Amino acid sequence: MKIFQFASDLKAELNGKEKSIGFVPTMGALHEGHLSLIEQSQNENDITVCSIFVNPTQFNKKEDLINYPSSDREDIELLEKINCDYLYIPAVSDIYPNGPVSERFDFGGIELEMEGKQRPGHFDGVGTVLKRLFEIIQPNKAYFGEKDFQQLQVVKKLNELVGFGMDIIGCPIYRESDGLAMSSRNKRLSAEQRKVAPLIFQTLSKVKSSFQDLNPNELEQMVKNAFDKEALLDLEYFEIADIKDLKKTTSIDTNKKYRAFISVFAGPVRLIDNIDLN
Ligand code: AMP
Repeated sequence: MKIFQFASDLKAELNGKEKSIGFVPTMGALHEGHLSLIEQSQNENDITVCSIFVNPTQFNKKEDLINYPSSDREDIELLEKINCDYLYIPAVSDIYPNGPVSERFDFGGIELEMEGKQRPGHFDGVGTVLKRLFEIIQPNKAYFGEKDFQQLQVVKKLNELVGFGMDIIGCPIYRESDGLAMSSRNKRLSAEQRKVAPLIFQTLSKVKSSFQDLNPNELEQMVKNAFDKEALLDLEYFEIADIKDLKKTTSIDTNKKYRAFISVFAGPVRLIDNIDLN
């Protein structure tokens, strides 16, 4: 695997290659969920570029940025093991030569729901870093996990807005054997928190199996009751939303597609998950 720290060097390397490029952006602390995206890219492209960059502009809380897990050496070993072709692992100054400031985007309102409400400016930060990374790497396809479903929809909008013309590929959520969605943040859970965290997916699964019988308000109440009983987990939000506009719904239109979205705190650690409903 070739490792690049500077955009100029990576651009020079990729420039003029008559090969299809698949790109997997990450913030590191890699796990099997990340690796599944890389493997999908390897199956569908001539070369695969992974990036590791903890993007400061998408964190609205300083403590969250400071405490974000990092394991560069282990990450590089994992990427070598699965034969990733290129890793771009820049410093903040290479991505933001003029300092880490977000561009403002209008993604049509989807950026203001759920994660956008809880983390103001988050999707401006995501849009800013991805626009820069897409300009450097110019991939044919870029891979994103449905774990961050709202982000996936925002990236599709960014691709349209900027006119990159690449394919944005959504990939399924990888889970631990007890159902907990894999996440770099899971490393920060205490043993006790880790033990109860599967309640998140158990609850989402219950919502899915009850979707035909209960209305969205009843389902929300069911979720609230489940978390009220678990002292180690605090529900931040639960919403059933139309996958197109990501607006919370209180009634079901059988012609539309819905997903349930959840955010839960385990102490200071924020965990998100979602599930398709129909
Ligand atoms: P992150 O490093 O958390 O920014 O994630 C980088 C990419 O990996 C994003 O597209 C995530 O949606 C995706 N990802 C993270 N966790 C998972 C997972 N458990 N399953 C599938 N994709 C994931």
